[in-house]
Amino acid sequence: MCGIVGIWNPARADPTEAARLAFFSLYALQHRGQESAGIAATDGTDLRLVRRMGLVGQVFSETDLAVLGGRAALGHTRYSTTGSSRIQNAQPMVVTADGLGELAIGHNGNCINARELRDELSREGVRFATSSDTEVVAQVIARETGTTWDDRIRTALPKLRGAWSLVLLTPAALYAVRDPLGVRPLCLGRKGEAWLVASETCALETVGAVFVREVAPGEVLRIDSGGPVPIADFAASRRGLCVFEHVYLASASSDLGGVSVYATRERMGETLADEHPAAADVVIPVPDSAIPAAVGYARRSGIPFREGLIKNRYIGRTFIQPSPQLRRQGVALKYNALRDVLDGRRVVVVDDSIVRGSTSGPIVELLRRHGAREVHMRICSPPIRHQCFFGVDMAHRDELIASHLEVEAIRRHIGADTLGYLSLAGMIRATGGTEAELCTACFTGDYLVPVQLELAKDSLEAEPVR
Ligand code: SF4
Repeated sequence: MCGIVGIWNPARADPTEAARLAFFSLYALQHRGQESAGIAATDGTDLRLVRRMGLVGQVFSETDLAVLGGRAALGHTRYSTTGSSRIQNAQPMVVTADGLGELAIGHNGNCINARELRDELSREGVRFATSSDTEVVAQVIARETGTTWDDRIRTALPKLRGAWSLVLLTPAALYAVRDPLGVRPLCLGRKGEAWLVASETCALETVGAVFVREVAPGEVLRIDSGGPVPIADFAASRRGLCVFEHVYLASASSDLGGVSVYATRERMGETLADEHPAAADVVIPVPDSAIPAAVGYARRSGIPFREGLIKNRYIGRTFIQPSPQLRRQGVALKYNALRDVLDGRRVVVVDDSIVRGSTSGPIVELLRRHGAREVHMRICSPPIRHQCFFGVDMAHRDELIASHLEVEAIRRHIGADTLGYLSLAGMIRATGGTEAELCTACFTGDYLVPVQLELAKDSLEAEPVR
């Protein structure tokens, strides 16, 4: 996870416009990370940086936006996947390269060979200030030998393995980069004379920009006053967009690959109703991400849709909070149940996924406490049995409930009357794509690039830091 944005705004009618556009775009991407936020901006001479722990709205003040100013900006909102949740690991990060000056980087994804690359650079005398793979990526680029940033980016990128959408900023240009498989999304937009790149289309809409196209897998776009120009193409022979973006990660208001995420989730719910019908009185979602799937389930099954759980929107999404303690508190504090909707009824409750199983049990219990006579849990993705190494900190494999329990045992564990998961084929069909265009590794174990199964989120943590 993580949300990234980049702005190139040659007009400069308002000197704070680029930083301000980055700020509002980040707001729209808050669902992708809630630990820290930052903006780097440039007026063409140097880079200015503001980054702090917290939500986008807490991190930046009007003074910050005025100080950042600039004709170009790079914004990031972080959810940690490599390196712990602390300010040193917040992004954007800025590194300095011999002869070329400063480079700011914002990264969404996970560079899975960061350990080897870091060891190599450390032997050459590079000192690392953080435990994040993002700094490794930035240093790999900065230490290349080309005479321009274009050259260094082109020669550095083939050394990286894993999933990475990047936005890079120098005083002279903005770069948008996607890994060869296109695991994490990244799109290009336009607002007047300004060019924008963002993790999701919802960020473009929020600031009144129009969607131009997706940055293609393996593509490197350089954006300056001449507009966006592709400077490299490292595309793999197949694609591998993370299917979990469709299921949970992306905003329902975004499009992925030209397809509405909301409509995809509705289709997942419809297919779920076909695959796992239930005799019930009401269909309710676990808000917010499962709302469209519950709408689809209700429509296909003919069972009325109601809201039975009300989410406290000021408490973050349980799954993306970084520590187990926060996650447990989140479950207890996050939902209120509606007795009027639930009392005496047979309830289908639709959720997007079951990761550890620590959320579903308390939800079933909450529904029963508020009068639900039966609880039929329906999940609009298959069982998650494998760890993600590509930028989603689901859990270590041992913590994934479906890695060691079959569906019937999970049902008993969460206390539901019945439990049904969407099939892999049903999930893929709902996206409008094919298996050859998606990463489905956390469901199937078929990783698109070789991974070290023991790789941990804190694998760079033991290194001494300045
Ligand atoms: S392993 Fe799962 S969560 Fe990770 S990139 Fe692949 S589909 Fe997405």
